[in-house]
Amino acid sequence: MSASLAERPVCPDVLDADVTAPAPGALRPGAFGNAVGLSCRECGHLEQLGPHYACPECFGPLEVAYEFPAITREQIEAGPRNIWRYQALLPVPTDITESPNTEPGFTRLLRADNLAAALGLARLWVKDDSTNPTHSFKDRVVACALSAARELGATTFACPSTGNLANAVAAAGARAGIKTVVFIPSNLEHPKQVNSAVYTEQLVAVNGTYDDVNRLASEIAGEEEGWAFVNVNVRPFYAEGSKTLGYEIAEQLGWRLPDQVVIPVASGSQLTKVDKAFQELIALGLVEAKPYRIFGAQATGCSPVSAAFKDGHDVVRPVKPDTIAKSLAIGNPADGPYVLDICRRTGGAVEDITDEEVREGIILLARTEGIFTETAGGTTVGVLKKLVETGQLDTELETVVINTGMGLKTLDAVSDRVGPAAVIEPSYAAFAATGIS
Ligand SMILES: *Cc1c(COP(=O)(O)O)cnc(C)c1O
Ligand SMILES: [Zn+2]
Repeated sequence: MSASLAERPVCPDVLDADVTAPAPGALRPGAFGNAVGLSCRECGHLEQLGPHYACPECFGPLEVAYEFPAITREQIEAGPRNIWRYQALLPVPTDITESPNTEPGFTRLLRADNLAAALGLARLWVKDDSTNPTHSFKDRVVACALSAARELGATTFACPSTGNLANAVAAAGARAGIKTVVFIPSNLEHPKQVNSAVYTEQLVAVNGTYDDVNRLASEIAGEEEGWAFVNVNVRPFYAEGSKTLGYEIAEQLGWRLPDQVVIPVASGSQLTKVDKAFQELIALGLVEAKPYRIFGAQATGCSPVSAAFKDGHDVVRPVKPDTIAKSLAIGNPADGPYVLDICRRTGGAVEDITDEEVREGIILLARTEGIFTETAGGTTVGVLKKLVETGQLDTELETVVINTGMGLKTLDAVSDRVGPAAVIEPSYAAFAATGIS
């Protein structure tokens, strides 16, 4: 990282929101698998495993550090067909497969020849995370956060959310029998509100942006006892769940890495963890080392990371979101600087597209591959198209695009653009008059 933390927008009220840490030795042995501590991404300080997320030395973000034993492909392949096949690589106990949890992951990796032909790409895959239990990639991160929350003795499972996270927290909490409280911006799409409220009575709609909701969550985490906010005070554990997307892509390609990956960016956590996953697989000898390029996708109406990428800045300047891609509408992305670093270091890029192009991206994926994605996926597919058109993506190389969500949650985005070609009386003459053949 070239940017010093002092140059970064750090939200100070986030820093004192740790929930009470358990007494040393209070943790169940093996509660976090092969994880050995939490290490600071800025200064390397090692902190004990617990509900911490900010470095006590420099306030940098903490991430899970491991000491991995030798792990073979065969061991992983013998595991369950969900994210827990990668238990040894995650901060979760070995008996996680027996816990009453939703079981996300091992979603399909689809060869996308039609979309590839439409865009002029040699070889393209769609990693389709719309088939997770609550229809977004957030079920992966929530499963890991829930495991940590229970091991740390949390009594309430909570989150600030742009929508999908609230759906995943509410559902996983219901199944695990733990109280949930989920916070969303009040202007969220109606289907996403219903998709949370159906699982929990405690959905709180806040009049403000996601960034306002996030600040409020940090404040509550500092005031209330026993609350695990999945993406605040147990964020290091939550974030590790995104690594499973990277592991699955590699395993499903036959234990090898793709050349290029296009990933949507909200907080930027997912993108950084796919890179971490690839690095771990290389270090463990599970895949051959090779260069790969990582690309980030944003909607122009909330594109602070793309703007910084284009300006050559290491610092991400916060924005006030204004886009239909609400699941990506984080104006002050916590992992923004790390996304910039990864995309630059791997020879990728961060790009953004208009809301109109987001809608076109949704329809393009639906009509070429039969996958109905939400606005986040429309953003990712639309950015893929723009990267090809602007020559930033190599069309000869093998590319994976990640579809992180499901179109039924954002119907309004395209409901004006698609519909009946004709409304007719039930007669052959009326049908013939339409010209449809
Ligand atoms: C949350 C979300 C993202 C982005 O996640 P980050 O890890 O915060 O960048 C992408 N797609 C969908 C559908 C999401 O809900
Ligand atoms: Zn530090």
